Amino acid sequence: MQRPMIGVVPLWDESRNSLWMLPGYMDGITGAGGLPLLLPLTTDEAVLKQIAGICAGFLFTGGHDLSPSLYGEAPAFCGPVCEVRDTMEKILFSLAVLEQHKSALGICRGIQLFNVLLGGTLYQDIPAQFTESTLSHQPPPPYNRVAHQVRIESGSPLHEVLGVASLGVNSCHHQGIAKLAPELIPMARAEDGLIEGVCMKDQPFVWAVQWHPEMALGEENSQKLFRAFVAACL
Ligand code: MN
Repeated sequence: MQRPMIGVVPLWDESRNSLWMLPGYMDGITGAGGLPLLLPLTTDEAVLKQIAGICAGFLFTGGHDLSPSLYGEAPAFCGPVCEVRDTMEKILFSLAVLEQHKSALGICRGIQLFNVLLGGTLYQDIPAQFTESTLSHQPPPPYNRVAHQVRIESGSPLHEVLGVASLGVNSCHHQGIAKLAPELIPMARAEDGLIEGVCMKDQPFVWAVQWHPEMALGEENSQKLFRAFVAACL
């Protein structure tokens, strides 16, 4: 069977003026039967429209903080942003997901992106703004170890795929969902209540997680997540 082609949003390294990619994103897709395609970093709408048509699904990867202007705030606690990526992903999400109902998986920055593009807001910095949290969402490396548990919402699509009520996950983020977008349904929450997994209403497969399955490809739950994504792209 032909592997579905899945566009992967590149990461950006200012210091080298270079695109880069963590192999786990590509290997997660390949291992689940998909064909990952590293996308150019571009805001050219004609190029993105063609890409939106070619690929069966899209992986919105981790990376820079999102510009708070996307959710109507001034920068207060956020780190460096990448405005080209912000703009590219906003256009791509609109063309591929909202217009063409292509499948999408968001990871880390990806869950934050989906939330703000659909009208939600973020904690610009969890330690500064979500002070009720007693968890460390950005413990020191190595980043592939279990940092905290998430509770999987009973009856959610994620629960159907993973078949577990809770899950130990890694955690490498200092931002997170504050106000959830109306179109998103929570699928997983950390012990402090932070939403760490969502899916979009009325879409075949628009899922996102706050943790990093691509850093834990040896885990069965990571493989199940990538397999569910690739299957939705067939
Ligand atoms: Mn976390």
